[in-house]
Amino acid sequence: MGEVNLSQVMDRNRSFVDRIIEESGQDIRQCYQCAKCTGGCPGAVHMDYPPNQIIRMLMLGMKEEVLKSKTIWVCMGCNTCTTRCIRDIEVAGVMDILRQKAIKAGYIEHAKGVISFNDSFLWTVRSFGRLFEPGMAIINNVRLGNFMKDMQFGLPLMLKGKASMLPHRLKGRREMANIFKKTVQGGK
Ligand code: SF4
Ligand code: SF4
Repeated sequence: MGEVNLSQVMDRNRSFVDRIIEESGQDIRQCYQCAKCTGGCPGAVHMDYPPNQIIRMLMLGMKEEVLKSKTIWVCMGCNTCTTRCIRDIEVAGVMDILRQKAIKAGYIEHAKGVISFNDSFLWTVRSFGRLFEPGMAIINNVRLGNFMKDMQFGLPLMLKGKASMLPHRLKGRREMANIFKKTVQGGK
């Protein structure tokens, strides 16, 4: 895990912190630093800064450090932190906003796998009306250059009827495509 100098108090990026508070609807200044969020976080061991430290860094205005952190991309949005927080702070919601800000700022060094998986998942749903796991895995592997990754699982899953070679096409896939279109247009 990374080290943070918690003694530094900064006014820099104050407006950034205010925007995070406004957009997430979470007053992170209420955090007691009890670390209960971190204690229950299943991803904490793989993060560079645990969730409570991310909240503290935000309070200190450490915009660059937070947006460039691995933590926000390791977070899987399981909401355990949110349910454990003694100050009713939706830590998972804050992580969501931070991911959006990181993408906008171009800090995607740790995000490539997540973005590729997300795009591959959405591509199959948009194309076929529902998730097509083998297609998603293949597209994701091609995007990341790991052509043969997990291929050994494909055939056994197909032989057991758990995965299909071909996608099932839903009747309502046109409606599904419209949902995607409207979402891209901002719901207009
Ligand atoms: S939502 Fe993210 S930060 Fe919160 S417990 Fe789950 S993985 Fe950890
Ligand atoms: S559980 Fe809540 S109050 Fe405690 S450190 Fe985490 S965010 Fe702060």
